[in-house]
Amino acid sequence: MACAKAPAPPLPLVGERPLGWVDVRLSMPAEQPATIGSNGPFEIYDSQGLLVMEGSSLPENTPIQVEEGEILLGERVRVAQSLELRPLDGATLTFRGQQYRSLLRIEISDQGRPRVINRLNIEDYLKGVLPVEMPDRFGLEALKSQAVAARSYALSEGARRGWLHPDVRSQVYGGKEVETWLSTEAIEQTAGQVLAHEGQIIPAWFQSTCGGKTARAADVFPAPPEGVLHKQVPCSDCQHSGSWSWTRTLDAEVVCEAAGLPVAPLESISLEPPYLPGRPEWITITAGGLESRIPAVNFRERVSRGQPRAKQLLSTRWAAPPRISPEALVVQGQGWGHGVGLCQYGANGYARRGAGYRIILRRYYPGADLVQLL
Ligand SMILES: [Zn+2]
Repeated sequence: MACAKAPAPPLPLVGERPLGWVDVRLSMPAEQPATIGSNGPFEIYDSQGLLVMEGSSLPENTPIQVEEGEILLGERVRVAQSLELRPLDGATLTFRGQQYRSLLRIEISDQGRPRVINRLNIEDYLKGVLPVEMPDRFGLEALKSQAVAARSYALSEGARRGWLHPDVRSQVYGGKEVETWLSTEAIEQTAGQVLAHEGQIIPAWFQSTCGGKTARAADVFPAPPEGVLHKQVPCSDCQHSGSWSWTRTLDAEVVCEAAGLPVAPLESISLEPPYLPGRPEWITITAGGLESRIPAVNFRERVSRGQPRAKQLLSTRWAAPPRISPEALVVQGQGWGHGVGLCQYGANGYARRGAGYRIILRRYYPGADLVQLL
């Protein structure tokens, strides 16, 4: 029997972002024209809350531009500062031909270009996040743990900065078209549930594959919450991940550049702490008689930047002592991602062994409380 899904929440007042709603700044590659549309009735309001246009539909190739400090929509509407495109009667809005729930706001960026923001309820936002952050095949309980983590992360980051990126800088968000029945089910079965510590929603970071043990947030992120996310959690449930173990050969040139050294034959490398398998916090590299000591997290980021996956250090978890020659550094590693919080493949493996989402969350976020938002 088909299961009726929860109706869309009512739109907030023009210009308002209520609690539990998020702003996602949609990607604006300069080389592509910015276009918006509506497949049904719509209204457009200016920054003063005045209705400037309404209609029964808006072609999805309607261009938006900024001209002389004003937003130009199509050929008829010109407003200062910002405008809000609001769907009526169940219509769906589009940006660059992609469908988005709820409403779109257009502002002028610091560079004088249009900025398109999808403003929507957190539950609707998650419907466009879960399917691209975790595949349905991971199963309902793993998806529910992911839904709670993603909800917590988005509300925490949204409160801190005021808006979210639509990609890995926050969480990947694909709008309405990526939604799946099972991921929406996971969101609805955990509606309003977040992870909190001492009354604050935590930024519940998550990652693909921890490779045996998760990382402490303080070793990866600049200002993690206190009293939570500071334990390394053992996990062998991600062994079925394709990123459980890997080997990378890094050319001396790449290693020296990452370490901030002049390019020279590599001489030695040491790790602190030296225990392996594990996550060294510091890496010291000697090349051409010069020495550089850098955080392992920065080293990983620098050698991987702009590289195809086959050339990236997938994590900071090293499985065996690195091998070094004048020409190259060979690293055997485990896992993929920053290592903090929920291990997605681990959640999948743990769920297969019978763990429900509450148990999964308790494992990867020890000390955090699962609470229900009002
Ligand atoms: Zn794991």
